[in-house]
Parts: sequence; C-alpha cells; structure tokens
Amino acid sequence: MNKKKNKAIFLDRDGVINKEVNYLSDPDDFELLNGTIEALKIFKRLDFLLIVITNQSGLARGYFKEETLDIIHSKMRRLISQENIELDDIYFCPHHPEFTGECNCRKPNPGMIFAARDDYNIDLTRSFMVGDTVNDIKAGKNAGVQTVFVLTGHGREQQNKFKEIKSDYTFESLLGFANHMIK
Ligand SMILES: [Mg+2]
Ligand SMILES: [Zn+2]
Repeated sequence: MNKKKNKAIFLDRDGVINKEVNYLSDPDDFELLNGTIEALKIFKRLDFLLIVITNQSGLARGYFKEETLDIIHSKMRRLISQENIELDDIYFCPHHPEFTGECNCRKPNPGMIFAARDDYNIDLTRSFMVGDTVNDIKAGKNAGVQTVFVLTGHGREQQNKFKEIKSDYTFESLLGFANHMIK
C-alpha cells in the first residue's frame, strides 16, 4: 500500500508546553504555558501529529518515580484533551549517562524521534522539533527534522550557547511558531 506518510510536530515538554520547573516532580507544579492550547489547535488543523519528546533524567537520578511521571503526563493529557485536542504520544528518556550509562534516546540523540517515526510512519523531512535548549535543536538536527528554537523556558539563557549549531527557526513561543505556520 502506498499510504501517505504522516508529518509531526515533535515537542519538548518543559519550557515549551508547560512552565519550566527544575526536575518537575510534583503534578501540582505542572502548568501549561500561555498559548500552548491555541498553538496545538493550529498544528492539529494543519494535520500534524503531536508527539512529546522529553528527557526525564530525574528518573535515573532517583528524584521521582515512573508512577509520578505517569501522573504528570495524565494531567498534561487531561488539560489538553479538555480543550478537545489530543496528544498523539509521549516519548521520554529515563536515563542519564552518569547513573544508567549511555543511551540512544537522551536528547541530543535522535532515538526518541526515530522510535516515533517508526511507530507512526512519519516523514521526518516534513516534521519539526521544537525546544527551548540547544540539546533539543541538536536532537532535531541529528534526526533530520526542521528545528524550531523557542525563547520560553530556558530559551533566553540558552540563546548564547548556539555557536556551530543554528536552529532553522526561532520564535518567542510555541504560539509564535504556530502563527507563522498559518501566515
Ligand atoms: Mg525544555
Ligand atoms: Zn535514554
């Protein structure tokens, strides 16, 4: 069968979808950023899959357990689905090299994006990785997707860390990117 491939917005979680809190471990601290819902609605209208790609080394470090991460992700899905949008999937890396050894999923590695590509038949060249850190942009480049740097979360302080690597786009926020897509 010659099914048309999907396209996706790969979203870093903390500092892109929700407020950046270091090693978010209390579900009560999970708060959507302004404009997240509106942005996700635009991407859905444009027929993108919405796939969260998040490093959660707090698991490897023992700061929180996977059950807690599940509760946080249920809350994220609930806050979004009550606005009638669904996240298509969430991929997280629980590792950290100092605690669990190297892995191929921790950003800047492209493992999570490749896993999603295989699971959802995604055309990476028509897809985007959005993040607020250099490692998000590197992961996107390593995977061969277009890269979008946003200035929410760690964005402003990370801005001067871009030397040899440049994102394809930079926007104030996820909504700034979404609005650009419908211009
Ligand atoms: Mg982030
Ligand atoms: Zn990993």
